[in-house]
Order: sequence, then structure tokens, then C-alpha cells
Amino acid sequence: VLSTMQDVPLLISRILTHGSTIHGTSQVTTWTGEGEPHRRSYAEIGARAAQLAHALRDDLGVAADDRVATLAWNNAEHVEAYFAIPSMGAVLHTLNLRLPPEQLAWIVNHAADRVVIANGTLLPLLAPLLPHLKTVEHVVVYGVGDRAPLTEAAAAGGVRVHEYEDLLAGKPTAYDWPELDERQAAAMCYTSGTTGDPKGVVYSHRSIYLHSMQVNMAQSMGLTDQDTSLVVVPQFHVNAWGLPHATFMTGVNMLMPDRFLQPAPLAEMIEGEKPTHAAAVPTIWQGLLAELTARPRDVSSLTQVTIGGSACPPSLMEAFDALGMRVCHAWGMTETSPLGTIARPPAHAVGTDEEFGYRLTQGRFPSGVEARLTGPGGERLPWDGESAGELEVRGPWIAGAYYNGPDADPLRPADKFSEDGWLKTGDVGTISPDGFLTLTDRAKDVIKSGGEWISSVDLENALMAHPDVAEAAVVAVPDDKWGERPLATVVLKEGATADFETLRAFLADEGKIAKWQLPERWTIIESVPKTSVGKFDKKVLRRQYAQGELD
Ligand code: ADP
Repeated sequence: VLSTMQDVPLLISRILTHGSTIHGTSQVTTWTGEGEPHRRSYAEIGARAAQLAHALRDDLGVAADDRVATLAWNNAEHVEAYFAIPSMGAVLHTLNLRLPPEQLAWIVNHAADRVVIANGTLLPLLAPLLPHLKTVEHVVVYGVGDRAPLTEAAAAGGVRVHEYEDLLAGKPTAYDWPELDERQAAAMCYTSGTTGDPKGVVYSHRSIYLHSMQVNMAQSMGLTDQDTSLVVVPQFHVNAWGLPHATFMTGVNMLMPDRFLQPAPLAEMIEGEKPTHAAAVPTIWQGLLAELTARPRDVSSLTQVTIGGSACPPSLMEAFDALGMRVCHAWGMTETSPLGTIARPPAHAVGTDEEFGYRLTQGRFPSGVEARLTGPGGERLPWDGESAGELEVRGPWIAGAYYNGPDADPLRPADKFSEDGWLKTGDVGTISPDGFLTLTDRAKDVIKSGGEWISSVDLENALMAHPDVAEAAVVAVPDDKWGERPLATVVLKEGATADFETLRAFLADEGKIAKWQLPERWTIIESVPKTSVGKFDKKVLRRQYAQGELD
């Protein structure tokens, strides 16, 4: 029997219309590096998104299903593109500006992007790429930055260049958004290739809508129109963790750092604009912590910090808590939209000794994400908080395949999707009976020593708790006797002098780390190589130390 409910599709255009009317006075504030930041209301964003859609359709000929890429920092215009492109029925493709140029070109060609909307400051990256982009017909530029390099490259390749503001000027500020199928593609994002070739994940209107509601739940980020969220996580990294869509549902103000992602301007933004919430990967926060230690600022407005993308070291959580910036740990992937778990402690643990332990886990599965653990032989493992296996997930905002071009069948590689359609995350961990996930490692980062597994994350967290250590990354190196052994690479804080013996003794102290897991190979490095989204790049570390040769 069918229900008697109205069949209203869950569309991005509905989120836009809601945000720009009901929350029309909420604001996107963009940092400009000097003077007053730039402010734009949600009502203005709504009007300008309509103008952009008119321009894309009427001036550039963008039609349904066409891919329109953005190569941009977090700012108001990028938010306009976020809403205009999917709402008109095209597909938003956010490009990760930190990828190596060859990989970027590969991704643009694979997605067959017709238009690129770019920040002027990124033209030195885009211009030399242009001759390699086979499908791009138009580049739309906005913001500061010299246009000359692009104009030359474009003229040579027959690509048309437009100024964003010129395109919008005089266009109608309303658009008759089409009534689309909610399962249609709205946005796409390629995984950053930490694990091989980039793979395209295509989000639907429906998946983004439902994911946004989940982000807004009190047991997730739970923000309201009284909040301002400092969105440090890039808009090119899994839709900025869903924040631009979620904030338009609830009227949360957005504070956008544009290209000013260094610790000092971030501290300045927090002091000046007083956000209540912020979201980014741990490496950003490690940098901010060092900055705040060296030059204390008033950060008292910031009471909630969402940390995810890689494990939050306990020492970071403690240090942030001490500053009043309460950390909420979350786990996810490009394939999971990304919110897969979030670590709000359960009611019975709040205010008890157990609370911190719960907050350190990757978090609890929300309604909408189903999870299971699979052992090495394919067997299902119990949720007992002890049995460790590969995490598999399923749900309405979890990918079921990868993009393989407009007319080809989607890709479902067997190492990524189970036969019954669940996503294999490649993350290894345990689940407690009450549904809290604890990751011990990525399957490929775990150190296999003499038939036993050593968690690289445990070693890193223990090392980063030492007062002399700024960062630590641990990777497996080949070993004749044990197969693999851990190599600890350590970045010392400025002026610190700890040596390996001291650090080793620190790890062994109070049985923090079992004796057989203690690294015997150590090296001091200047900085840990990072991936395009700011995670430790263990592939590079492994390549550099593959032979286990050390200073
Ligand atoms: P990439 O695979 O290129 O790094 P993603 O951003 O999709 O791109 O990364 C997802 C992965 O990041 C997860 O599979 C997991 O290994 C790791 N990750 C994300 N959040 C956490 C977390 N809170 N703790 C530990 N690992 C995490």
C-alpha cells in the first residue's frame, strides 16, 4: 500500500530557497587578509546563485548533467556555486587545488568538466594545466589575482574566459529551479588518491539533503542560527564535511578563511569574528595550538571544534579542552559524504571517568549509517569492543559505486564493495556494544610484525603526548626477522632536545606501549609530509624509508 504523503523530492534548490528566505539575514563572512572581512547575507547568496545559474545556462550553454568544476578556496562565491550548479540540474565538481597538476588534469578529463569556476589567486595553477584539459570550454574567474597568464593560455587553446561579476551583472535574481529527480547527480568529489588512482564519488540531491539533516542533529554538530561556524575544512574536501548545505538549513553563519589557512590568520579570525564552532583535520589544529601557545589570543567564543579526517591525538584533545575549545571527534570518508560517526558520549558517561574515553573513539553511528565488522576470513565479528576487523558501512549517504564516465557502468571494485553492496572502508577497528567505533589503523598502515599487528596510530598518539614532540608518524619498514617493524619519524618542537632513548623510555613508561611494539628505528625529520588534504602522507614516508636505512 502506498502512503498518502506528498512525494516532494529532496533537492538542493529547496535547501537554497529555505536558507535564503527563512534565514535570509544569516551571513557568509569571507576573510580578505587585510581590512574588513567581506560579508554577504544568505538572501544575497540566494539572489546571486540565481544570477549565476542564468549566466551558466544562457551565456555558457550549461545544460542538465553538465559538469561544472570549481577550483576555489572557501568563500562566498564558492557557496553560490555550491547551490546554483546542482539546483539548475548540472553537477558541481569541486577540484582539490593541492593535488599534483597531472592528477588534477586527469580528474578534470575523467569527469569531462565543461566549465571551471576559479579563484584569481589560483590561475598560476590553472593556466599551465589548460592545454591538457580536453573538455573545458569556459573558465569563469573571480576575486583578486592577475588574469594575464590565463588569458594567454586560453586564447591559444580556444577556451573562453569570463569575469564572474560581469556574468552575473543584470541577470534576474530569481530562477525557476527545475523539479529534478532527487536521485540525480548533484555534486562529485574525487578521493585524494592516498590509496591509488583517484576515484569519483557522485552525491545525489537526496544523499546531500539527508546527510545535511544528520549534520544538524543535536547528537552530531547540532548548530543553530545563534552559531557561527569557521569552515576550515576545504570546500573541495567532501563538500566541506557537508557544512555549507547544513548551515543553509538552519541559518548557522559561516566564517570562510579563503586562502588564509595559516595558524596566525586563523587565530586572528577566531579572535576578531568570534566563531562558536570550527571544523578541520588535526594538522590544522596542531598548528593553531602552537600559535596560541606562542602568542595567546582570546579564543573564548570557540566552544566546539569538530576534528576528523585522521585520528585526533589525545594530547591535542586535552590541550584544546584546556583552552575551552571542546573537541568533538568524527570519522568519515569521501565515500560517506562524509559523516560516518561522531563522538558525543552517551548520557550515562557524561561527567564520569568514562567520558574522555568515549570522546577519543571515532564516535557512534548515527541513524542512517549501518555498520558491520569483517574478519580476515570474511567472517562477521561481534560488537564487543575487542574483536578488530575491517569496517563496512551502508546507508542513504554512502557510496555504492564509483563514477566511470557519463555513459559507462559505475565501477564496483571488489576491494571496495562487498557482493551485497556494502562499502568496505579499508579502516580496521572495533565496535562497542553501544555502537562506538574505535579505529586502530588503516588496513594498509598497520604494521605486521611477526604475525602480530602493531597500530601505527597508537604509537603516534603516545609519542605526540611527549612535551618535546610536535608531530610523529609511524610507518612499517621491512625487517628480515619480523617481516615488518615500526619506524618512528619525529618532528621536535622548536628548541627541544629529546633523543630516541628518552622517547623510547617515555613510550615504555607505565606500559603505555607493550615492549615488543616499541620501535627500534627512529629518525628526526623537519616535517611530516602531508597529503593534499593535510593528512600524514605515509606513502611518501614509506617510499623514503622503504629499505629501513636510517641516519
Ligand atoms: P583519502 O582516502 O584520500 O585520505 P578521505 O578524506 O576520504 O580521503 O579519507 C578517509 C579516511 O580518512 C578514512 O578511511 C580513515 O582512514 C581516515 N579517517 C577519517 N577520519 C578519521 C578519524 N577520525 N580517525 C582516524 N582516521 C580517520
